[in-house]
Formats: sequence, structure tokens, C-alpha cells
Amino acid sequence: MFGGGMPELPAENYPNKRNIPRMDFLVLFLFYLAFMLIGVVTICICSKTHCFKGLVRRGAQIISYIIPECLRRAMLRLLHYLFHTRNHTFVILHLILQGMVYTEYTWEIFGLCQELEFSLNYLLLPYLLLIVNLFFFALSCETNPGTITKANELLFLQVYEFDEGMFPKNVRCSTCELRKPARSKHCSVCNRCVHRFDHHCVWVNNCIGAWNIRYFLFYLLTLTASAATMAVVSTVFLVQLVMVSDLYLETYINDFGHLQVVDTVFVVQYLFLTFPRIVFLLGFVVVLSFLLGSYLCFCLYLAATNQTTNEWYRGARAWCQHCPHVAWPPSAEPQVYRNIHSRGLWSNLREIFLPAVAHYERKKK
Ligand SMILES: [Zn+2]
Ligand SMILES: [Zn+2]
Repeated sequence: MFGGGMPELPAENYPNKRNIPRMDFLVLFLFYLAFMLIGVVTICICSKTHCFKGLVRRGAQIISYIIPECLRRAMLRLLHYLFHTRNHTFVILHLILQGMVYTEYTWEIFGLCQELEFSLNYLLLPYLLLIVNLFFFALSCETNPGTITKANELLFLQVYEFDEGMFPKNVRCSTCELRKPARSKHCSVCNRCVHRFDHHCVWVNNCIGAWNIRYFLFYLLTLTASAATMAVVSTVFLVQLVMVSDLYLETYINDFGHLQVVDTVFVVQYLFLTFPRIVFLLGFVVVLSFLLGSYLCFCLYLAATNQTTNEWYRGARAWCQHCPHVAWPPSAEPQVYRNIHSRGLWSNLREIFLPAVAHYERKKK
């Protein structure tokens, strides 16, 4: 069996007779993907809700009975270091993961695709996206997001109107003691107030604000595109391989000793056993494309409606506080949020890609 079109594959790679548990690998792999996807999505959606915070608190209480005090302190210190101080851990992790994916692509997929006579332009596209992505990654990491200082405080105060709800006039930051311009926020990780604060991103180890949100959007766009391109190349390669090898015309002996025609499940399992790294990479980039694509859509929605993540989150909270089905502590004061900054799609996008104060600052220098 399998005598047809793939002479370069070693014979021990071929699935043979009864020695392969038919569904095990595939089922486990699909479970792994589904769990990873559901877990990440659940954490993303629920991390900001009270219900989830209560669960985490209860979980932490239970853990505190099991884990000794010194270990718990060390864990808390580590979590504090990772998420509440500026550090390069996630930047390095990001580069390592990207490096691993591209090494696998170069080492295995690129050569095999060339053997199958894929167009070179098509194969070089992920590298082009990588270069553009790293460029915007560096810009997102290094650009000043719009730090408010004594010198530029007055200038920032004039940029946005105060809405007397979320951003009232004449409020000072309790840490920097600077007057708070509308739409700004103090970042506790970087210990500074940032103009048009969006969020603090651990992956770029920087705040995302008025002056680097455009780089961040391009970074996200190119990262999603490179993951999606790699997913497409790997899929096309595996499909092409099955077509070239005429795998569908083969037969095999199943667990019950019957001769059976090769079906899709068998082909997927065969590919998983023959090219485990490629199939694993495919699973990873598919999940990544899905997650990054969803997040990119959310960021584009915020950009198009002229909202920051900070405002969206606080707006959603304010909306929840008016909901009669949710019990809120009596101390929580309902905040009113009206989006008074949206001026139509093109003006909103122009504001992000050509921030007014950045130009003014440049001219001053
Ligand atoms: Zn501050
Ligand atoms: Zn920050």
C-alpha cells in the first residue's frame, strides 16, 4: 500500500495495518485546540466581569490552603513583576514564538513547498510580512504613547472636550499631580499619565496612546496577516501533498481486520503522524489567526467609532450598572458615558493616523 507518488518519504512513516490507534491522535489534538480556544476566549471575555473576579478570589483562597506561604509569596511576586512592572519578558517571549514559527517554516515547509513547485512570491510573502511586522513592533515598543508632563500639560488639556461624566474638568492625577486632560489615564505599570490612553500592552511593554496607536494597529494587522498567510500556505501544502500522492485511492486494514478505502479522518491522522511539526504549526497559526483577527476587528471598531479600550470598558461597566439584573455594591456610583468624540468614520480614522498634537510637537522642535 501507499506505493504511489511519495518516494521521498521513509517507509516507517507510512501508517500501516493495525499498529496505529485510529482516532487517538486526531481526537486529542482537536480537543487540545478546542480547549485552548475556548479557554482563551472565556478569559478574554470574562476577565473584566465581577463574576470572574469573584471566582478568581475564591480560587485564590482555596489555593492559599494548599500551597505553602513562601511559595505563594514567590508566585505573587512573579505575577506582580510580570503584569505590574515594565519588563521585557513578553517581548522576548513574542520574539521566541515568532522565531520558532519562522524556523519551522524555513526549515521544513519552504523546502517541501518548493519541491511541489509552489510560486516563490507566494512562499516569500510570510517573510515580507515578518519584516513589516517587526518594523511596526519596534515602533509600538519605542514610540512615546503621549506621556503628559508639566511642559505639555496645557497643550493636551485643549485637545478634547470634557464630558463631565467619565472625564470631568479640573481633576488632578493623584500620583503625578498633573491636571488630567480629557481621555487621559494614569498607567500604574509605567507610572505616568498618557494622552488618549488606550491600554497598557505587555507584549510591546508600552502604553498604547494617541501617538503610537497607529503603529499598534499596523503591528496587529501584519501579525494577523502573517499568521493567516502561514495557515494558508501550510494548508495548501498538505492538501497538495495528498493530491500528488493519490492517498485517496489507497486502502488500509482497519481495527477489525477489514480492508477499507482511505477517508478524511485517516488522511488527517496520516499527515499528523508523517508531518507532526507542520500539523502542530498549522493548529497554532489557525488558533492565532482566529484570536488576532477577532481582536483586530474589535480595535478597528473602536478606531472607527473614536473610542479607546479604556472608555469602552468603562462605558460597558456604566451600562452594566444600569442593568437591574446585576447586583452592584451600594458604593459603586453609576458613571455616565456618552461618546462625544465621534465625528464620522474618516475624521475618526484621521485622528488616529494623523494625531494633531504630535504634529504640533514636531514643528516646535
Ligand atoms: Zn498620572
Ligand atoms: Zn503603561
